[in-house]
Order: sequence, then C-alpha cells, then structure tokens
Amino acid sequence: DLHPVRRALLSVSDKTGLIELGKALADRGVELLSTGGTAKALRDAGLEVKDVSEITGFPEMMNGRVKTLHPMVHGGLLALRDNDTHVAAMNEHGIDAIDLLVVNLYPFEATVAKGAGYDECIENIDIGGPAMIRAASKNHAFVNVVVDVEDYSSLLDQLDENYGKTAYGFRQWLAQKAYARTAAYDTAVSNWMADALQLEAPKRRAFAGELKQTLRYGENSHQTAAFYTDGTNRPGVATALQHQGKELSYNNINDTDAAFELVAEFDPVKSAACAIIKHANPCGVATGGTLLDAYKAAFDCDRTSAFGGIVALNQPLDAETAQEITGIFTEVVIAPGASDEAKAIFAAKKNLRLLTTEGLPDVTAGGKTVRQVAGGLLVQDKDNGFVGMDDLTVVTKKAPTDEQMRDLLFAWKVAKHVKSNAIVYVKDGATVGVGAGQMSRVDSALIAAKKAERMADVLGLPQPLTIGSAVASDAFFPFPDGLMEAAEAGATCVIQPGGSMRDDDVIAAADEAGLAMVFTSMRHFRH
Ligand code: 5GP
Repeated sequence: DLHPVRRALLSVSDKTGLIELGKALADRGVELLSTGGTAKALRDAGLEVKDVSEITGFPEMMNGRVKTLHPMVHGGLLALRDNDTHVAAMNEHGIDAIDLLVVNLYPFEATVAKGAGYDECIENIDIGGPAMIRAASKNHAFVNVVVDVEDYSSLLDQLDENYGKTAYGFRQWLAQKAYARTAAYDTAVSNWMADALQLEAPKRRAFAGELKQTLRYGENSHQTAAFYTDGTNRPGVATALQHQGKELSYNNINDTDAAFELVAEFDPVKSAACAIIKHANPCGVATGGTLLDAYKAAFDCDRTSAFGGIVALNQPLDAETAQEITGIFTEVVIAPGASDEAKAIFAAKKNLRLLTTEGLPDVTAGGKTVRQVAGGLLVQDKDNGFVGMDDLTVVTKKAPTDEQMRDLLFAWKVAKHVKSNAIVYVKDGATVGVGAGQMSRVDSALIAAKKAERMADVLGLPQPLTIGSAVASDAFFPFPDGLMEAAEAGATCVIQPGGSMRDDDVIAAADEAGLAMVFTSMRHFRH
C-alpha cells in the first residue's frame, strides 16, 4: 500500500511554510507544479516549478476563477494507476499523474469575518481548490491531499519513514480531513448566504466544526467526547488560552461557557462582576467596587455549592482576587486577562485551571444555538434579548425605588442564565438565593429561600438576606402562589414577564402583600 510521490501540485492562498515545504519536496526529488501566485513565491525562493497553465495550455483566466479546472489536472489527480483503461487514457492524452496535492483555499471565512461586502465575499469563494481537493481525496488509493499547513511536517515525516512513499492509512487520514475541510468551507458559504438573504429558516442547513481537542470523556466516564470550534473565533471558552491546570473536561467546558456568558452581561466599565457556576447554573453572582468585593459577595450567596465551582470574572484577574479564590477548591477561573502576580499566585495551585481571553463574549451578538434531539437538530436564535429600564411596566400600586430597580434589573440578567424554572433573589447587587431547574416555580422560590436561610446560619446573620430583596422570575407566575412564596421569603419587589391569564390575580396578591412589581414583556426560558 506504499505509493511514491513523484509529482506535486501546490496551490495555496495562505503561503505560510510554503517555501520550506517546496524545498523539502524538491530535495526529495519531487517535481513541483503550481498556480500563479504560488509558483511565483516558489520561483522567487529559487525553486524549479512548472506552471499549471503550461500543462493545461490555457492561461489562468477570469480573475483566477478558472486556473486548474482542466482534464490535465483532474485527470492527473483522478486516474487509477492500476486500471488499464485509466492508464490508456493518460497515455492517449499525455496526462501525467499528480501524487500530491497541497491546497489551502481562498480565505472565504476571513473575508466574511472582516465584514467584506457581498461581491467581495462571492469573489472569495474558491472553486478550483475544492474541486481538486475532492478529486485527490477520492483517489486517496494513490494520491495524498494536504489542506492544512499543520500537516506539512507529518507529510515529510511520512515520506522519510517510507523512502519517498506514503502509506495507504496516511492517505486515508488526509482524505477524511480534506472532505471535512471542503464541507466546512461550503457550510461557511451557505450559512453566510442564509444570513445575507436574511433567511429565517433555510430549507437546508449545514453544520461543521473543527476539532479543538479530544476530551478524556463526556458528561460521564463511559462516554467519549471531543470539543469542536465553529470557526466564528468569538471570545469565549472555545478561544480561551489555558495557562495552567489539568485538561478541561466536557463538563468544565460547558460550565465555563455558562459562567462567562453570564458575567459578560455586566459591563466591566460600570462595575466588576463575578459569577460562580455549578452544573451550568449560577450559585452566586455579584457586582462590586472591586473584583475582590464581587467575588466575595458571589461566594456568600451559596458557599456550599461554590465548592468545586467555576468562577468567571468580567475584568482581568488581579492578585487580591486570585488570593481569595485559592481559599477554596475551584475547578476553573476564566477572565478577560490576568496580571502576572495573579498568575504567580495560581501557579501554586496545580489543579486550578486558569483561562484568559482577549475580551468578553458579546452578549448582544446574534447567532444560532443548536441542540440535538432524536433524529434532528433544533436551531434557534441565541437568546440575546435585553430588557432595560424603559422596557418595564410598573403594574402594582407601589413602584420600585431606584435602588430596588437596580436590583430588579440585576436579578433579571441573572435569571436569564438560570435553568427554568428560575427564581432569583437579589440584594445590593448580589444574588442571595437562586432556585433553578425545578418543575414548579413555587419550588424554585422555596428552594432559593431555603438556601438563603442556610447561608444566614453560615454567615451568622440575624436573618436571611432575602428579607428586603428583589426577586426575578424567568417566566410569568401562572398563579399567585409562587409570588406569595417569594413574599414570604421577604422579597419586597418583583420582576417578571407578565402575560399570564391570571395576571390580575397575581397583581392583586402583590398589592395586598405591599410589593412593587414590574413586567418585562419578555421571558427567558432556558432548558
Ligand atoms: P495562487 O496564489 O497560486 O495564484 O492561487 C492559489 C489559490 O487558488 C488557492 O487557494 C487555490 O485553492 C485556488 N485555485 C486553484 N485553482 C483554482 C481555480 O481553478 N479556480 C479558483 N477559483 N481558484 C483556484
């Protein structure tokens, strides 16, 4: 299954490592063919290279739209070397075999990412490249196809191990990767068009991902797992830099994402903020004058659950906060940067993973979320819904004070990131009770209040912090019972979407209990 590499076609947009590869191939006696820009780069470096236009007998034309689309090229890539009719056709038409194809495509994704206009994006759709990749991949019985600069060195290693030949398994491995590349490329084109045409639900939708890392296991140890990036290159867990600690696990990645997306709701210019997450739900979120204040206040919401949690910060990690975080076992800390001093403090905690990013996730950004169900994929817009002061309607006799209003809006932002049914109590810019994921809203209200009671004991407070708190509900109260549970826990003001058939009953109950209540007209289910 070893097959020699005698002739290579190189056609690359990204010329990283090209000269080194070209030299290494020439040193191994491989004849080089190339397209315009690639050939020029190789020739400028003193390498001997034949132009594709010379073998096709056609110049590159139509702004490069047609360069390699020719039987002299595709015949050389596709011909089965052990098939008499194929060999006869090669002889008849003077087609020489191409044993190695090195291609990277027009930078379509990067062109879209830089905000180019429609026509420029269209012009950056590579045609000949994918055509050659697909041809070479199909013929991996004989042909090697390299689509990733990262694989240049493994190709050369392979050639050296096998005295100028490559193994079938290696060519298969390259081909699988190559098809994933053309699939991802067309996915990017198709999704860009869906956006450009403002199609809500395109008839066909493609999905693609690039392996970032294999994971030790999935949610549980009997499940294998891997982490793929989607090519958007957004600040977040997928693009974060890990400075130390063990490899991230599947659950770590999921929780870190939840934590960072939540903390990004709080503008770092206005205040420091901290979110501590366990099993994708916050067990403490707070803003503060400093990161340290924010961390301490978040921690005090539910110290029991914060153990082994994930901490996300909206400002670069500083030494004081780093020191405080090392006080308990924490799985992951993610922040938009970290000071050298903070890094040095963490260095002593070998198991603590520190991730930094270039910035915060953009909570206003659009995009899609995808969830798998048996036999299908559920696709929806990312929940980037935002409610500000002007969007609120006061529905009770009492209106919230300015201070209450601040806590209500804070609670609402947090509730958006809590699994439904979500009830969130907030006092002075910090959560003091979070009820998540219950099948009944009454239970969520009750559990959050119970947690606050327990924390009052732990902190030696005379009464739970839910007394005099603001409470948020991610969806409307269908009956007054959930609201009354919150009032009993001591909440004095309420934020909720409204829109229940029994809104009148709920408002009457709120008035009777002396609560101030506002409606958002927007709900934040999260499952
Ligand atoms: P070069 O810099 O060598 O002039 O062009 C290299 C790029 O052209 C590569 O990204 C390759 O995929 C692309 N390419 C090669 N053949 C064709 C073709 O026939 N049509 C188009 N549109 N692109 C091609």
